Amino acid sequence: MSESYKNYVRGEWVTAESGETFEVIDPAQSDEVVGMYQQSSEADAIGAIEVATAAQDTWAATPGPERGAVLKQAGDTLADRKEEAIEALVREEGKARSEAAGEVQRAIDIFAYYGQKARDLGGRHKASSSRNTDLYTKVEPLGTVGLITPWNYPIAIPAWKLAPALAVGNTVIINPATAAPGPTRILFECLDSAGLPDGVANMVTGSGSRVGTPLVEHDDIDGISFTGSTAVGTHIAETAAAERKRVQCEMGGKNPTVVMPSADLDEAAEIVANGAFGTTGQSCTAASRAIVHEDVYESFVEEVVEYAEAVDIGAGLDDPDMGPHVSKSELDSTLEYVDIGREEGATLETGGIRLTGNEFEDGFYVAPTVFSDVSNDMRIAQEEIFGPVLSVIEAGDFDDAIELANDTDYGLAASIVTDRLSEADAFVDRIESGVAKVNEKTTGLELHVPFGGYKDSSTNTYREQGDAGLDFFTSTKTVYRNY
Ligand code: NDP
Repeated sequence: MSESYKNYVRGEWVTAESGETFEVIDPAQSDEVVGMYQQSSEADAIGAIEVATAAQDTWAATPGPERGAVLKQAGDTLADRKEEAIEALVREEGKARSEAAGEVQRAIDIFAYYGQKARDLGGRHKASSSRNTDLYTKVEPLGTVGLITPWNYPIAIPAWKLAPALAVGNTVIINPATAAPGPTRILFECLDSAGLPDGVANMVTGSGSRVGTPLVEHDDIDGISFTGSTAVGTHIAETAAAERKRVQCEMGGKNPTVVMPSADLDEAAEIVANGAFGTTGQSCTAASRAIVHEDVYESFVEEVVEYAEAVDIGAGLDDPDMGPHVSKSELDSTLEYVDIGREEGATLETGGIRLTGNEFEDGFYVAPTVFSDVSNDMRIAQEEIFGPVLSVIEAGDFDDAIELANDTDYGLAASIVTDRLSEADAFVDRIESGVAKVNEKTTGLELHVPFGGYKDSSTNTYREQGDAGLDFFTSTKTVYRNY
């Protein structure tokens, strides 16, 4: 019998009003239930919002360094429980152990970082035009905020929303993704044991379309930070904007890597393959289009196919290169795109099948997939697949490559592989993307610099992470103090 986990509201672990639970299964072994979580309703979310709203003034009045000390302690506790958190993450989300280890470490570092940042909060003094006047700004928390997070980075994304929100003095309610709520639960256990006051942070599990609705619409919610699909994010942004609530949505991507003839082709293929097949392609920043100069197109296809075929696939706990898809529906969606690619006339070079038999039999495994002869107007080149599927597109020259790279509704991450500085600089200047990288894969972020997308990848209101991560959760008051 698998363990049953509860919501965290007012500092207590509580069941949902309905008394119902849902199962979270292991994507590597789908007949294994990893845990049971509360199937919460709108009423549960509203209850948590009321609790968080009541706790807000006291938390906002708590000195920044004191708030920061709680965050730091929570991060330290997570560090003590790192192995357990890695295992929970792998068993629910499916990614390879070392990828999960990196992600848990990222969450630890994020708590340490914003724990320290809570000391540095303040405002700025300016010279006033009037005599005997102090003119300055002070930062204040937004108030009570709703956080909605996806399954693909189930500990890093909750951490990079929770930590800055709490550092600034907001109270929060989080609805983690149904497919992988376990890592968020562990974060809450760490916050609880670090002495976070009751009601300051609350976790309500259950279907996003039910629990998420009050987190967006309720009158007492002052801000919503969402990461997930563009469809859901767009709906949330429109709803929140109509209520004049502050909103930040980070959404999908269709991320290109441009490969120029000056590049070392083997290195380029490795960069692209790592970006495309790492985390089973289930990263918002995953490389899904390789845009390759015609002079090296055919050789690049050969090289990248070799990398794809060498990917070691298996259960995340065995630390392969690539684990399974998170769910049957994600697997089916990837296979559907393989059919679409074939029907559109792209050449399937490798992969495109579900892996079955032996250790693969009960998991959601798909082979790393490479399509060549892809034109940029095909659906496989325009729509986010969110699986290990790479489309290789031929470009006539550098200008053509940039045009193709930008010819998408998305604009999250992009990279170029080149040995020429002029191309690297021109790429950085001209690419329509929130993250631009040179000679690096599109995935992988640092925690102390802003992250966010252009175009349909983001509401492009506020960035996350680094100092920018604090801005979203902060209001600025300008004070004129005459004496
Ligand atoms: P979804 O948009 O389906 O879900 C994201 C979260 O929103 C989940 O917690 C989900 O709940 C919840 N949700 C679903 N419907 C609603 C609703 N109507 N109102 C409020 N909340 C709702 O995305 P996925 O979980 O499938 O995540 C993958 C997506 O996330 C990809 O598109 C990916 O690109 C994007 N992503 C973006 C990142 C970025 O920073 N730009 C980073 C990582 C991922 P439930 O789980 O119950 O369905």
